[in-house]
Formats: sequence, C-alpha cells, structure tokens
Amino acid sequence: MSDVNTGVPAADDARDKSQDFIRDIVAADVRAGLAGGTVVTRFPPEPNGYLHIGHAKAICLDFGIAEEFGGYCNLRFDDTNPVKEDVEYVDSIKDDVRWLGFAWHDREYYASDYYERLYHYAEQLIGKGLAYVDSLSADAIREHRGTLMSPGKDSPHRTRGIEENLGLFRRMRAGEFPDGAHVLRAKIDMRSPNITMRDPVLYRIRHAEHHRTGRAWCIYPMYDFAHPLSDAIEGVTHSLCTLEYVDHRPLYDWVIAHTDTPGRPRQYEFARLNLSYTVMSKRKLLQLVEQKHVSGWDDPRMPTITGLRRRGYTPASIRDFCARVGVAKKENVIDVGLLEHCVREDLNRRAPRAMAVLRPLKLVLANYPEGQSEDMNVVNNAADPSAGTRKVPFSREIYIERDDFLEDPPKKFFRLAPGREVRLRNAYLVTCTEVIKNAAGEIVELRGTYDPATRGGDAPDGRKVKATLHWVSAAHAADAEVRLYDRLFTTEDPDGLAAKSAVDITTLLNPASLEALGGCKVEPMLAAAAPGSRYQFERLGYFAADPDGKAGAPVFNRTVSLKDTWARVAGQT
Ligand code: ATP
Ligand code: MG
Repeated sequence: MSDVNTGVPAADDARDKSQDFIRDIVAADVRAGLAGGTVVTRFPPEPNGYLHIGHAKAICLDFGIAEEFGGYCNLRFDDTNPVKEDVEYVDSIKDDVRWLGFAWHDREYYASDYYERLYHYAEQLIGKGLAYVDSLSADAIREHRGTLMSPGKDSPHRTRGIEENLGLFRRMRAGEFPDGAHVLRAKIDMRSPNITMRDPVLYRIRHAEHHRTGRAWCIYPMYDFAHPLSDAIEGVTHSLCTLEYVDHRPLYDWVIAHTDTPGRPRQYEFARLNLSYTVMSKRKLLQLVEQKHVSGWDDPRMPTITGLRRRGYTPASIRDFCARVGVAKKENVIDVGLLEHCVREDLNRRAPRAMAVLRPLKLVLANYPEGQSEDMNVVNNAADPSAGTRKVPFSREIYIERDDFLEDPPKKFFRLAPGREVRLRNAYLVTCTEVIKNAAGEIVELRGTYDPATRGGDAPDGRKVKATLHWVSAAHAADAEVRLYDRLFTTEDPDGLAAKSAVDITTLLNPASLEALGGCKVEPMLAAAAPGSRYQFERLGYFAADPDGKAGAPVFNRTVSLKDTWARVAGQT
C-alpha cells in the first residue's frame, strides 16, 4: 500500500526527510545554540469555539516540532476576549488535543494569568513615551488609520504627556470609564506602509465577565500585544502561526524590543490548511451550530476534531493527513479526498469486518431446514491476522441488500436475478427461484435454494459465480440505524463562492448531506457495539458506532465509503 504516486509524500517519507522550512529554521537555531538549545513552542487556541482540522495541522506542527527536537510545547489559551470565550471551549480543546495523541504535561497556560504582567508592560511603554491613551471613537480611529493607498493621520490625543497617559490608563483599569471611551495605543508610525504599525490598539475597555478572571478586569489586551508577551513570559523560542500574521510580525518584534521581557521569541508563519468543500472559520462553524444546520459541534459532518472523531476518524489518520499535507509558505487548497484516503487506509488496517444490510430484502432458502441454523467461521480482518475469527449465524431466511437484486438485470449487472446463482460471502452459493410481489407490484421477498455442497462459498465442481453478496440471518439480525453522509457543502470553495456572489454560506449547504436509514439489519455481534468502535461493513464502507445508539438498537455513522476517489485522482490503482 505505497503512496509513491499520490504526489503527496507518505507520512513516513515526510518524517524521514523531516525537512520543511520551519524545521530547517529550528534545526539551524538549535545548532547555533539558541536559548541553550531547548526548543519551546506553543499551541495558542482562543477558547471561542471547537478545534477543527486546520487546528490539527497547527497542533501536529507545534507539538511535533517540540517532540522531534526534545523540547516543550505549551498549551496556551489565548483568552483575551471575554465576550466570546467559554470554559466549554477550554474543556473541549483539551479533550481534542489529548485525543489527537499529544501531551502538554503541566504546561497548561492562560494569557489571562498574565494580565497583571501585561498591564505592567503597558505602563512600561507609556513611561517610555511609546504608548498613549486615545479618546477617539472606534469609527474615528478607523478613519484616521488611512488605507493601503493613503497614509494615516495622527490622533489629536497622540501628543498627550506621559503623566496624563498614565493617569488615564490607571483610571481605565479602575473602571471609571464606559466601554469605548478610551483605548491604549502604541505610538509607532501613522504613515507606515504596514497598516498594522499605524499606532495599533493595545488595550480596550470591556465591562464583561471573563470565564477565568471574573470581574477583576475591565480592560483587556489585544492579541497583538498579549501574544508576543505571553510567548516571552513562557520562554517560547519559536512562535508558529499562520500566514495572515506576516504583517503583524514587525509589531510582534516591536513589542518584544520595547519591553524588558525575559525571552526573545520569534514568530514564523506557515500556510493555513484549507480543504475543498469545507469551511473552517470558527465564526462560520458557530453559525452552523447556532442556526441548527448541524446537530452540534460534534455533528459527524463538521470538520471539527470532535465531529471527525464521532464520524469514526482515528487520531492516527488525522496525524498522517497533517504529515502528508506538510508545511508550506504559500496558501493552497487540499482535496478533502486526501483526508478520506488517510482514514480509509488506517481503517483498512485496524477495522474488523462485519456484515450489515442497509436496505434489506428477504431471501427465503426453501431447501434449508426450517428452525435450523449454523455458525459460519469468519475471518475478522484479512489485513490483520491477529484480529482473529468470529462466528456468524446462517439460517433459512436471510437479508440481502435490496439493490443487489434486479428482476430484469441489464448486461453488466452480475448480482442476483431470477434463475441466477451468486455467492453469499463466507456461506453458500444460492440461486433465486422466485420473486414475491405485493398488490402494488413491488418486490417484497425472494425465494431461492442453497447448495449444501458449497459451504464456505466454493463449489466442489469448480463452477464459478460472478458476484459475492453480504447478508445477515433474519432470525439473528439486530435492527440498527445507519447514517450516511455526503459533503456538507455542494461547492468546492464555499467561502470563495459565498463572497463572490454575496450570499450567506448557509445557502450553499448540501440538503442531502445526511441520509438516516432506519430498519437496517446487522449481524448479532454489532447489536451492542460500543460507541466509537469502528468496523468495515463488507462492500459498504467504514462505520463507527454513534453515542446515540443503545444496546440492542445501535446507530452507525459511515466514516467513509470504500471507493477511493483520491487514489484514482492521484493515479493510484
Ligand atoms: P479560525 O480562523 O478558524 O477561527 P483562529 O485562527 O481564530 O481560527 P485560534 O484559536 O486563534 O483560531 O487558532 C489557534 C492556532 O491554530 C493559531 O496558531 C492558528 O494560526 C492555528 N490555526 C487556525 N486555523 C488554522 C488552519 N486552518 N490551518 C492551520 N493552522 C490554523
Ligand atoms: Mg485567532
């Protein structure tokens, strides 16, 4: 199962060479003895939503590099916006990082733990004449900022003296002013070609309850101020983030250069993960959840870690995917088929096989003794001999898949038809002898015969059949619900199209993204499948038991079908 032709290196390959531009930089820094040679990275989620597959890429990079270079990776919650953040998100983020297979040990940090120190650094900047309190409205500040084509204009408050600034800033902290009355800004350059450097806002007033600090603060630091300082406080050496922060790097360096922080962190940017047919912004994912277009953050159609997990993805398949995607300096879009390919490959190795019939049609074998049954000995996973065997009951009445039978089959249809013999997997050769219909002319049942000499599926006289069908014994089967998923969006680039045609992203949702089938019949061992357990249902795909199921009434999510369109696109066989 080699991936030499996919155009994307296999995980092992990527690890052997181990060299992307970020790892090259880190390796060179280690050789040069930077920070005593100990690499410290951080993964800095804002707890304002659940993590998605894009975050998985960042996690694999931040934790992966720390691991490879014998350093540390901090899990730091960038919790500087009280209005949008919540402990629910903190807990889910920890769950997801752990589930992906990474450990932060005791290195769990919160930007909010640094509020007092950040405040101290802000006063330090004011004291150096490098920050001032501005009392313009948010709109006025925006207008003064200028555009890419035109320089900004100084605020009339830019020339306030140090003492006045200190006094106002202290009163901001003391809660003397309402939201929006003042902000603290860095004094850099209103004419800078880089708009980020035009006196960026460092603090704003927000009379709001914070999920950790409660009402202790009513001024909150901005990302561009809190992030470099948090990195420095923690001794982070390599602060890895996505490309949209390139323009912020001069500000990152400015903040570090003008405060007497302990460390000397550096920011490096890599291309964010974009996936076809997928939206990844937390804001848009939150919209899908709040407007109930999906059942929650863990809806199996969501690109969230928790959604992928419920869908049946394995941590290994997601890590493998991230390794194959690699780390680039330029934005690109990854085919969602590659993600599916990765989970298919992993589940092929680890998922035991089982038989389930999604749209059952009964076949009664007239020459099989009534009331009798027998156990077929079945191999659990031909790809994994250690998975052993199991017993699957066979009897006179069995269910086959409705679309495995056609009364009047076209030329290339080799499955069951009147008078035709097929193989029931791991059981017998059977022949259809009669079609039973209801008054409306619909097929309700098939009659047939089995050949007792073909137990195990092969005829002693060597005669061949063209099709092998999966089946379950009617008397022994459990009823199940099976949920089939299609892409959540009908279009390859939902973000792009929504922007271009000025429509809401929800107008691009695929109305057929979920098909829930009731009355499915599954083999007995699946009746009590534990939530999260994964199987290959023969001929149908990979499935995972959903927490909605109960013992005796399981629910399964199709993780992915068996057909590998990625392999085809990539020229694999
Ligand atoms: P979103 O834009 O989806 O709301 P975010 O950047 O606001 O995400 P954060 O919680 O701030 O979310 O992100 C934490 C880390 O994950 C950051 O370092 C960010 O750069 C990284 N990250 C976010 N989205 C992606 C992505 N699509 N690909 C790679 N890394 C990402
Ligand atoms: Mg962010």
